[in-house]
Amino acid sequence: MSFTTPHTRIEFFPPLAILVMTYGGRVLSLDSLRKILKLEHKKGYADSAVIGGLDRFLHNWSGQVIESISTPHLLARFRRLANSSYGSLTKEQRKQWVRDVLAVLAELELMEQESVSPSKVGSAPVVSTPSSTARRQGMASLDSPITAIRGISSNRAAKFDRLGAKTIRDLLYFFPHRHLDYGRRKSISQLTEGEEQTIIAHVWQAQEIMLGGRRSTEAIVGDETGNVRVVWFNNPYLAKKLPTNARVVVSGRVGLFGGRHVFESPEWELAEDKELVHTGRLVPVYPLTRGLRPRQVRQLMKRVVDQWAWQLDDFLPPELKKRCHLPDLPQAIVQAHYPENEASKAKARDRLAFDELILLQLGVLSRKRDWQESQPGNPFSAGIPVLDTFLKSLPFELTAAQWRVLQELLADLQKSRPMSRLLQGEVGSGKTVVAAAALLVGAASGYQGAFMAPTEILAEQHFASFCQLLSRVTPPEHEESYLHTYLLSRPLTVALLIGDINQIKKQGLQQRISAGEIDIVIGTHAIIQKGVEFRRLGLAVVDEQHRFGVTQRSALRQKGFNPHVLVMTATPIPRTLALTLYGDLDLSVIDQLPPGREVVKTKWVKAAQRESAYAFIRRQVVSGHQAFIICPFVEESEVIEAKAAVAEYERLSRKVFPDLHLGLLHGRMSAVEKDRVMRRFRAGELDILVSTPVIEVGIDVPNATVMLVESADRFGLSQLHQFRGRVGRGQEQSYCLLLAENPSEVARQRLHLIEKIGDGFQLAEEDLKLRGPGEFFGTRQSGLPDLRMAKLSDVALLELARAEAIRLFEKDPALDKLEHRLLAKELARVWPEGGEWS
Ligand code: ADP
Ligand code: MG
Repeated sequence: MSFTTPHTRIEFFPPLAILVMTYGGRVLSLDSLRKILKLEHKKGYADSAVIGGLDRFLHNWSGQVIESISTPHLLARFRRLANSSYGSLTKEQRKQWVRDVLAVLAELELMEQESVSPSKVGSAPVVSTPSSTARRQGMASLDSPITAIRGISSNRAAKFDRLGAKTIRDLLYFFPHRHLDYGRRKSISQLTEGEEQTIIAHVWQAQEIMLGGRRSTEAIVGDETGNVRVVWFNNPYLAKKLPTNARVVVSGRVGLFGGRHVFESPEWELAEDKELVHTGRLVPVYPLTRGLRPRQVRQLMKRVVDQWAWQLDDFLPPELKKRCHLPDLPQAIVQAHYPENEASKAKARDRLAFDELILLQLGVLSRKRDWQESQPGNPFSAGIPVLDTFLKSLPFELTAAQWRVLQELLADLQKSRPMSRLLQGEVGSGKTVVAAAALLVGAASGYQGAFMAPTEILAEQHFASFCQLLSRVTPPEHEESYLHTYLLSRPLTVALLIGDINQIKKQGLQQRISAGEIDIVIGTHAIIQKGVEFRRLGLAVVDEQHRFGVTQRSALRQKGFNPHVLVMTATPIPRTLALTLYGDLDLSVIDQLPPGREVVKTKWVKAAQRESAYAFIRRQVVSGHQAFIICPFVEESEVIEAKAAVAEYERLSRKVFPDLHLGLLHGRMSAVEKDRVMRRFRAGELDILVSTPVIEVGIDVPNATVMLVESADRFGLSQLHQFRGRVGRGQEQSYCLLLAENPSEVARQRLHLIEKIGDGFQLAEEDLKLRGPGEFFGTRQSGLPDLRMAKLSDVALLELARAEAIRLFEKDPALDKLEHRLLAKELARVWPEGGEWS
């Protein structure tokens, strides 16, 4: 706007007298006009807010306003607005018009408040001093610091800063935690104890009294149905603010004192011709910090929202809003703070949550597009015959889910765009064989493949199972590579590369990898990090992806070969969360276990049942099976955790199972030691493996049928489910015993859930509901924008946002069409260039 040319910037504001105008004999305040305009907005700009149309109404009204406006720039603005005939404007123009008038009103009102601000009360006639705040206001924008708002000193601004609000825009997005439902209006005779209720009454008498040794206020208020006593503890000053006969709105809980109803320290405000802020409605409860008081914040927020929400650009394209039934942005902001009712609050929340999610999705999608389009990938050309041979050679048939996922992978692998896929599947659902099939197709197409596991023990296990799958052989011990001869016309070489092999062997392997002699390398992430040069890496599979961060994923891509990437996880991430956090990955799910698997029977074992739990383990061992015992999780230190595990191991070996063979596994043991214990357990030389929780991932011992978890109440649901996945890998019925001596209420809920629910994904959804996404991952996801309104458990909205983001992306990938300009701008604002996110 151009109201700041030097000659219009006159710093003199005479009193603004006429703020109350008469219209048709009725008193009309700026506030009422604002209400009319908002009503007009709500009715979709149909010129139906007042009978006879806005034009006639404004014609009467504006003459008087114009006389009263004495700042040139406001006058110019208002003239311009008043001269246009509302009735003949298009809908879009009307909208803009309403917005502009509201902005002018806000400024007028501001000046009114300024001129009657407390310091000047009584100095009649009121003469405003040159006001730098008002001038600042004229030029302030949504991105101005909040000190541009009248009444916010830098001191106060610092407090809001602590709450995350630096700019006016931030304040608009500074949402209340919740709302108090003070909308239930009652007459005094209808009041009931214990409920939150609102009355409108006359003050009969208000006075200072002593209550419990504290100076307090007591008022008697009444309506036509009766009187009620109201007390405010420790607040004697209130008495003066409640003049006799004033109409007051009181909201709060009603208690009983001496057999009579009494409001104790309720919210209150005088009933004037203004919208209620503290009472009589859904009243916002804002986050506070030292030095910010609820009433103060509420009042300020009301003013800021009324004045500034209308200035926000609504960046969603109108047709999208219509299709998704979303309200306009300014409307949503207003309703999020000061909702008219629960329904409009819910609608506002939907809109604002949708905004967060679609911006997140658009960001993630554009990132995906960037890396997919930057470099061409490696299309796999081979397929069917070798795959046929392989699948026929397996001792089992793929499940329908495995088959479907394999098709999804093949479709991706044949494209020259690099695949980027997340494969989720319960422990034991058979992800490995699917990955092996994909790697085989790569080898047949002349590409190398990598398979990364999070630990050496798992890498070895995978190497062994690849050899089984590809040739039905067990690899000779201490052999790092193996030739599989019958699948391809040439021998297929699979190698194991871990840190634990000697240097000469390792160098030899590295050489063969860079010469392209090895087709599939299985190992820890050492295989991509330690200067290993592939000759032609076509597919990288990452097992147990939650152990690998975003950084490793992009390190892999940045190695320059731009391989297809498949990340696999047995951590059941709810679909909604996966789509949000890993939206740059496509998602495949194996949602079915191979036939014949029994559900692991799970039971919460109380302290008194400890002995019978041990007896149960003993019976399982005697009948030829094996057991795990997981020691408590010690947050502070791995050393203490290890010590505790050693002590527990010794106790169990001496006192409980002296006749059985026990092994111990903890995080302070060397890789060689761990390995030795694991091998003995797998070979059946040990009956019971006592372990700290660190050893949670992927070991496959089908003969183990019992898992006992100590202090199970300290673990999250997903982790308990991971533990449980260590058993039930064979054909036998398996059991999971969860010892929890004195669980908290939430822990109790968790234990009940895991006893009842066997499906990891369903469990993860429940976990998410119980704990929220931040805790779900243990730490707050860094690099993600704040989700204030969106709940990741809101599947429908997330899917809607994703679908709309994809649609937008297909139509206008760079978002440079006119109708997407504002959206592009908003996207750039929330996803600044170079930001690290996933
Ligand atoms: P995960 O998904 O946990 O990695 P694995 O791939 O280790 O599961 O598979 C677990 C076990 O199930 C392995 O012994 C594997 O050979 C076997 N398996 C995989 N698919 C099937 C199937 N369709 N039918 C029977 N057994 C299967
Ligand atoms: Mg696995």
